[in-house]
Amino acid sequence: MSIVILLLIVIIVLFGVRNIRMQFITRPVFTFFKKVLPPLSTTEKEAMEAGDVWWEGELFRGKPNWNTLHGYGKPTLTAEEQDFIDNQVQTALTMIDDFDIVHHRKDLPPELWQYFKEQGFFALIIPKKYGGREFSAYANSTIVAKIATRSVSAAVTVMVPNSLGHGELLTHYGTQEQKERWLPSLAVGKDIPCFALTGYEAGSDAGAIPDLGIVCRREFEGEETLGLSLTWNKRYITLAPVATVLGLAFQMRDPDGLLGDVKNLGITCALIPTDHEGVEIGRRHNPLMMAFMNGTTSGEDVFIPLDWIIGGLNMRVKVGVCWLSVCQRVAVFHYQHLLPHLAMCRLKPPQLTVMFVSSLVCLLAILKAYKKPWHVLLPILISLKLHVV
Ligand SMILES: Cc1cc2nc3c(=O)[nH]c(=O)nc-3n(C[C@H](O)[C@H](O)[C@H](O)COP(=O)(O)OP(=O)(O)OC[C@H]3O[C@@H](n4cnc5c(N)ncnc54)[C@H](O)[C@@H]3O)c2cc1C
Repeated sequence: MSIVILLLIVIIVLFGVRNIRMQFITRPVFTFFKKVLPPLSTTEKEAMEAGDVWWEGELFRGKPNWNTLHGYGKPTLTAEEQDFIDNQVQTALTMIDDFDIVHHRKDLPPELWQYFKEQGFFALIIPKKYGGREFSAYANSTIVAKIATRSVSAAVTVMVPNSLGHGELLTHYGTQEQKERWLPSLAVGKDIPCFALTGYEAGSDAGAIPDLGIVCRREFEGEETLGLSLTWNKRYITLAPVATVLGLAFQMRDPDGLLGDVKNLGITCALIPTDHEGVEIGRRHNPLMMAFMNGTTSGEDVFIPLDWIIGGLNMRVKVGVCWLSVCQRVAVFHYQHLLPHLAMCRLKPPQLTVMFVSSLVCLLAILKAYKKPWHVLLPILISLKLHVV
């Protein structure tokens, strides 16, 4: 009994007294993980540095300031956004029969596709001057959430062009020429986008995509052109089976130094019409047993001119920007549909604590199943800031 009490006292002192904890626990643990973790590649560093965090950063640091969250103003819809929800969205809902979509057609009915295109459902975030609706993130989120109450397949179909689709990317990073070429036709649904990052060997670890773009010179439309020979193999790409323009993420290399001294230019993104020679759109997946369009795409030694890279020819700058934009798009996809609601719901601290604790339990379950736990343990500890440091 006395040994148990002694042990308890040691544990309490070890973890409870800050200086002792730092010296005997925190520092050795960090030294150990520093040794066993593989070094960060340049691409990984760029990915980690791309963008910043919102209030959720505080949540993961383990010391959230609830007043800050409560201090955020309640997002509101403009009269135009509200009108769209009351009319166009309401009409779309009456056209949706999810059982028919999922079990019979395995697709949206043609009249719903048409209605979505005509009414600008695929152009919620495209600026008005290019024919889009230019709605807020909150309106975008509300519209998708509302459609999801009737059919998740229909909701995902609307969600992807307004997040992963090219509207966001082109608006922020496209050259004027690219904006004028693509945004008006995307706004009216004449062009349907898909964004291909995930491949057979890289999903969560997006920086590890093996797809390659090698800088080279070839004849293109009758002229010797500086461009890229692209080889890719992607899967899980939403809207790929119906897309007319493919946003492709790949590693860009310049082995012959045609652009300068840097051989490895990092992750880059280009827009490629899907009817371009060599672009393959493969078979459909059956994602989550739902009926939204999702499938594979591949290509081997497909030549594209350099000005199909998003942002254009100013390579050294654009290549970095491309990776930043890839990260931002994925972030938009994930956050646009959650955070406005989090702020709006004004969850009380106990409810948020339950959310936080359940996320932790999930992380611990992953940890248990993982072959090399230290590869996941360190990021988790850092994100919680060890709670004991
Ligand atoms: C319905 C659907 C639509 C999609 N649409 C698109 C699209 O339009 N475009 C596109 O590019 N991609 C798309 N994806 C792919 C999606 O981005 C990937 O599925 C996702 O990035 C995960 O990659 P993965 O499936 O290869 O899983 P993996 O990366 O192999 O992960 C497998 C498991 O390991 C866990 N894991 C992985 N790494 C870590 C780590 N470091 N620490 C802890 N746990 C880890 C993951 O959480 C997961 O549970 C779609 C996927 C689905 C299911």
